[in-house]
Amino acid sequence: MNGKLFLVPTPIGNLEDITYRAVRILKESDTVLAEDTRHAARLLQHLGIDRKTHAHHQHNEHKALKGVIHLLQEGQQVALISDAGTPGISDPGFLLVRACLREGIAVETLPGPTAFVPALVNSGLPCDRFCFEGFLPVKKGRQTRLKELAGESRTMVFYEAPHRLLKTMDELIGFFGPGRHASVSRELTKVYEETVRGTLEEIKTYFEQNALKGEFVICVAGVKYEEK
Ligand code: SAM
Repeated sequence: MNGKLFLVPTPIGNLEDITYRAVRILKESDTVLAEDTRHAARLLQHLGIDRKTHAHHQHNEHKALKGVIHLLQEGQQVALISDAGTPGISDPGFLLVRACLREGIAVETLPGPTAFVPALVNSGLPCDRFCFEGFLPVKKGRQTRLKELAGESRTMVFYEAPHRLLKTMDELIGFFGPGRHASVSRELTKVYEETVRGTLEEIKTYFEQNALKGEFVICVAGVKYEEK
């Protein structure tokens, strides 16, 4: 009988954010697949879980699929974790989920930490309808994507690396206009968590004058949004 694949969200900073069920599923799993096995080992040790982890990251996920499917077909329970947050959300996961479903193997994703939900809800921008854009393409397709999004009416959510934040803010200003409302959340769930809200121009000025450390989520209001 086939085993089952669990996608298990892990904290994006604050270790208290792991759920009771995530801990139980990790304890019960025969195999834990992790983006970075050393990082995962530290988390598992913190949770008192003695499980060996196997590498499953963007550079080997295609090659690793067959082996993981084999384990599942042998009846193993397999858990997939990423470095932080929910696997599959700007992290490996999708290819394995699709392969499992094609083979008739059950998949269950636990609810839990992910960076875009607290950033969006905390932005103060409409969150009844939104689109998650993750990381913009780094080179090819970046301008085309931004051009497409200039007319988007829902709140847009982007992930960005710290060294690209100011450049991205400049591009957002170029495509969406300096007065478009937005928010940038930094270091969510961590000691130096902060959310800066205002127009794109105001937020850019703030981050030109303040530290660009940590991880960032950018939320941008849709084209028709007006502050009341
Ligand atoms: N799987 C993760 C999730 O569910 O959110 C996302 C992983 S992606 C490789 C990493 C990006 O997520 C970072 O560059 C940043 O944009 C965002 N991120 C992750 N942790 C964050 C945090 N504590 N504060 C702000 N942004 C964070």
